[in-house]
Amino acid sequence: MRVNRRGLTAGATCLLAGAALVATAGLSAPAWAAGELNLYSSRHYDTDERLYSDFEEQTGITINRIEDKADVLIERIQAEGANSPADVLLTVDAGRLWRAEEMGLLQPVESEVLAEKIPEHLRDDEGQWFGFSKRVRIIFYDKNDVANPPQTYAALADPQYEGMVCTRSGSNIYMLSLMAAIIEHKGEAAAEEWARGVWNNRARDPQGGDTDQLRAIVSGECDIVISNTYYFARALRKDVDGLSGSTDMIGWVFPNAGTTGAHANISGAGVVATAPNEENAIRFLEYLASQQAQEYFAEGNDEYPVVAGVELPDSLKQMGEYEEDSLTLTAYGANQSLAQQIYDRVGYE
Ligand code: FE
Repeated sequence: MRVNRRGLTAGATCLLAGAALVATAGLSAPAWAAGELNLYSSRHYDTDERLYSDFEEQTGITINRIEDKADVLIERIQAEGANSPADVLLTVDAGRLWRAEEMGLLQPVESEVLAEKIPEHLRDDEGQWFGFSKRVRIIFYDKNDVANPPQTYAALADPQYEGMVCTRSGSNIYMLSLMAAIIEHKGEAAAEEWARGVWNNRARDPQGGDTDQLRAIVSGECDIVISNTYYFARALRKDVDGLSGSTDMIGWVFPNAGTTGAHANISGAGVVATAPNEENAIRFLEYLASQQAQEYFAEGNDEYPVVAGVELPDSLKQMGEYEEDSLTLTAYGANQSLAQQIYDRVGYE
């Protein structure tokens, strides 16, 4: 966890370590003055530093940051209740933002800037959260071992790939959002059949994150994996242990070209329901949709910008053009619990 550049007193730093203490022992500490912006973020990329300093310079508004895992931040906002200093929650995956919305932690925002710049399917219909960069969940494969890589998500369940496929756990939010999209497109029965087929094709039981799936191609354990684009793009841009020297052996398919397009998700943010600095919070979201911020925001994690006409990070230019699913992301939230039930039913751990 890191805190703002101004630094906090030793006492305040202690408080930041324990969410439960905050409401009672008081983040009324003077470091969190009124009229600033208190950002709870699960992002932690170097380019984001420029993002924050740009905003501070442009607006004169100081950003105070708490960085932690998304689920920890969401629980923390809930525990802090009405006393929460949080103005903005910044995290990844529409499914997670939807959870925060369901818990009543966010508020609707009306902004002409955001409505105009951010495509409708990449934001909540009530304005409770907005996508600011995109990631696509695609198929990667071992070029040496797979002559006919699957071209669709459906094909991952084809028996010709028995013993070859690796994914992360069915309870992971990325896998839940993917399943939610499949339910939306094909219905529950087909989605369940798909999950059973992919499970039957597994090379090993699910383990690790997306980078671990890609590493398993390099180590020879898996031939075909599902991963978000940025994990691979990152290995093209900088050194990623167990991956960077070996990216030449890995091929990729943006699935479902010509039909639904590849499954997309977002990194996004919403204004917290109890935000003490609501106006600054909206201003910050609008800033994130600006040309410059979009570039920094996407570069920081090798993601696709959401605003039209913004330059792609170099790593993603290397991955080429693709067709993207334009399903509304609110469907990911609405189908989330059914998605989990389906994985559970087929024993997709
Ligand atoms: Fe991720």
